[in-house]
Amino acid sequence: EGFNEAVAQAAELNAFIVTTPDHALAAADAADKARAEGKELGAMAGVPIGMKDLFATHGVQTSAASHILEGFTPQYESTVSQNLWDAGAGMLGKLNLDQFAMGSSNETSHFGNVASPWRKEGSNAAMSPGGSSGGSSSAVAARIAPAATGTDTGGSIRQPAAFTGICGIKPTYGRCSRWGVVAFASSLDQAGPMARSVEDCAIMLGAMAGFDPKDATSLEMDVPDWEAALSSDLRGKRIGIPKEYLLEGTSQDILDSWEQGKAWLKDAGATIVDVSLPHTKYALPAYYIIAPAEASSNLARYDGVRYGLRSLPDGAGLQDMYAETRHDGFGDEVKRRILIGTYVLSAGFYDAYYNQAQKVRALVARDFEQAWEHCDLILAPTTPTASFPLGSLDDDPLTMYLNDVFAVPASLAGLPAMSVPATLNKDGLPLGLQLVGKPFDEQSVLDAGLAIE
Ligand code: GLN
Repeated sequence: EGFNEAVAQAAELNAFIVTTPDHALAAADAADKARAEGKELGAMAGVPIGMKDLFATHGVQTSAASHILEGFTPQYESTVSQNLWDAGAGMLGKLNLDQFAMGSSNETSHFGNVASPWRKEGSNAAMSPGGSSGGSSSAVAARIAPAATGTDTGGSIRQPAAFTGICGIKPTYGRCSRWGVVAFASSLDQAGPMARSVEDCAIMLGAMAGFDPKDATSLEMDVPDWEAALSSDLRGKRIGIPKEYLLEGTSQDILDSWEQGKAWLKDAGATIVDVSLPHTKYALPAYYIIAPAEASSNLARYDGVRYGLRSLPDGAGLQDMYAETRHDGFGDEVKRRILIGTYVLSAGFYDAYYNQAQKVRALVARDFEQAWEHCDLILAPTTPTASFPLGSLDDDPLTMYLNDVFAVPASLAGLPAMSVPATLNKDGLPLGLQLVGKPFDEQSVLDAGLAIE
């Protein structure tokens, strides 16, 4: 009965692209059986999770929410999803997302917009669950799934988590294998958990992470038991407040929640220090050069030959087939990224744009390295605003890109970063706070998250 109710609500929110209840039930049965036999249970035994439809799942359509991959059924399993099944989890279904994870509102999916379960007080307008992991945030916030996977290239775990009042962590680049995850911008893409609590994130991240020889950028490091070590005692920790994140025009509710966050961390024993990340304002423009550049290269493989869709006009030759397939298969936002990417990589513009952006990336990373001489963690808002009504930014890609302004620096630097629910604004919408940690120090990020939660 509860299941049917959840299915109906999921349909209303459009959170899932495909549902796989048998997969989840099999995991629950296996957990029951293991328990009855007194066997040791995996960390995720019997837990029914949602899987962002960017992770390849054996025998289950993997579409990246794009028409071009519709009908593509992998004969292999991504390392992260396999790790979760090995820990005992089961899959409720494949979650909707922005097409190829490009977007901040879940409005670029071929399978339709995803709605957040939240509404502005006194309004019935459907709100954005954020993006690109909007199916994940919506399903977890609506209590349809206790947890879900997300991926974060420039904020796609943290921003949707903030918009829907849940927790989400992007670990250090390389913690979670990218093998079998549809590539967007390979030097930035990182998987992570989205769940209702910091503790659940710690458990799930522990199951997802680990060295994988199939991913050349996978970290060859042990996975600590983050959950066992969780502690909200922050005595001795210095929390840095980056002055460059105080953007002109940031709304009062965001500033208030930031103040509240500082107070909570102080109460937990931490000291608050001012730090400077001087290249912050160049991070977003650099991201929107680097990510499309890598995307334009990664998306070259969708040619109508190897995966999913093939558009073949009568009597067409190979070139026409490529062109038609890509014309029909990619959505507008994906095409925009390919155009930007090929432009910034083209001879004559490469030095002016791509190379310059790579230099900025190095400076952003150095800013953090210098900040770590004065603090152990950074506290900032996750987003410059709360969620917005679906459709309200349709003709405004630049404002849409601005959503990621606080998220992107940690992505460029490959640092662990988490969004935790902080307060509700005057409209009754959730606001998130972001914690950014030193490389490999997910523990401090989770601990401070626990103190805020
Ligand atoms: N919103 C950002 C973009 O569209 C981030 C996406 C992501 O992290 N996958 O590029």
